[in-house]
Amino acid sequence: MKNLVTHHFQNNERPILTDSFGRRITYLRIAMTDRCNLRCIYCMPAEGILSIPRQEILKFEEVARLIKIFAELGITKLRFTGGEPFVRKGFVDFLQQIDSQNWVEAIHITTNGVLVANYLAEISKMRLKGINLSLDSLHAERFAQITRRNDFAKVQAALNGLLTLGISTKINCVVQKGINTDEIINFVKLSQKNPLEVRFIEQMAFNGTNQSVETFSASEILSVIKWQFPDLQQITEENGTAVKYKIDGFQGTIGIIAANSRSFCGSCHRVRVTSTGQLKPCLYGKKSLDLRALMRNGANDTEIKESIKLSLWHKKANGFEAEREIAHEQKESMALIGG
Ligand code: SAM
Ligand code: SF4
Repeated sequence: MKNLVTHHFQNNERPILTDSFGRRITYLRIAMTDRCNLRCIYCMPAEGILSIPRQEILKFEEVARLIKIFAELGITKLRFTGGEPFVRKGFVDFLQQIDSQNWVEAIHITTNGVLVANYLAEISKMRLKGINLSLDSLHAERFAQITRRNDFAKVQAALNGLLTLGISTKINCVVQKGINTDEIINFVKLSQKNPLEVRFIEQMAFNGTNQSVETFSASEILSVIKWQFPDLQQITEENGTAVKYKIDGFQGTIGIIAANSRSFCGSCHRVRVTSTGQLKPCLYGKKSLDLRALMRNGANDTEIKESIKLSLWHKKANGFEAEREIAHEQKESMALIGG
């Protein structure tokens, strides 16, 4: 990758990216790839997944250019996701380069953790703000049933390594009816002796099939936890993406994400870019702008910025409205959207 031009923004230099409802957009999620080394049952079918041809995936230079453009538009928080970001060859070098820039205030990664133990030394040297590790079972066999792969030990090693190095870590646990609801309490207990945020996520229908999903809701998750820990205290507002809780004497915290109930849309401040460079103002809605085409057709940064501003201005009020526009389409895999 070519060397990136360093530019340090002062806070008062950042312009504001807003939608027509006055929401400030400050958080960008970029999918580094559609490919993955796991096949989680709620995310992808077991077989028949066609990988996107490589030339359609944004090059590192294109991703870097977009990050800088979005930073100039006021994005302060960046998350790399996928697919599995660590399966993309060269991802860690790219991450180091982006991390060494002062384009955004915080860089986060969402990962299944399978390859993370290989890169702990590199990760620990970065400015990087945190890692979200996806883990839906604390039992090797059930982990294999959910992910269709036998990599539990590698994820466990990643988690231990991250904790040992003091890297800020959150666990993302997708709660699946009839599969792992009996583990909610054991996941909560993980935050007792570890400075972890354990986040329970409602399952959504983004599985790349037409199969519908019976969600174990955020309020059901909360009831299970409260039954065991009646002194659970809510520590953040209802309208944040994750409503956070704590239990006296626990080092870590607990988060519940109503991803399917979508109770937080009113305060949404995020935007996504897929691995092929499509802008998605809402997880549930349509792709509103082809950033790859703009870049490959020679648009300059100002033209790209104007297109992004216009597209995000039309961000829908909430996920239900956004979904209406593509209600007839099959639900994509989260790996394609960039979860
Ligand atoms: N491969 C990485 C991982 O698993 O962390 C990053 C991509 S994955 C699509 C991002 C997050 O989306 C993970 O925490 C995953 O559990 C979550 N996810 C995937 N499919 C989901 C679904 N149908 N409902 C809720 N969350 C889902
Ligand atoms: Fe891969 Fe992440 Fe989807 Fe699981 S949730 S299949 S790890 S992209």
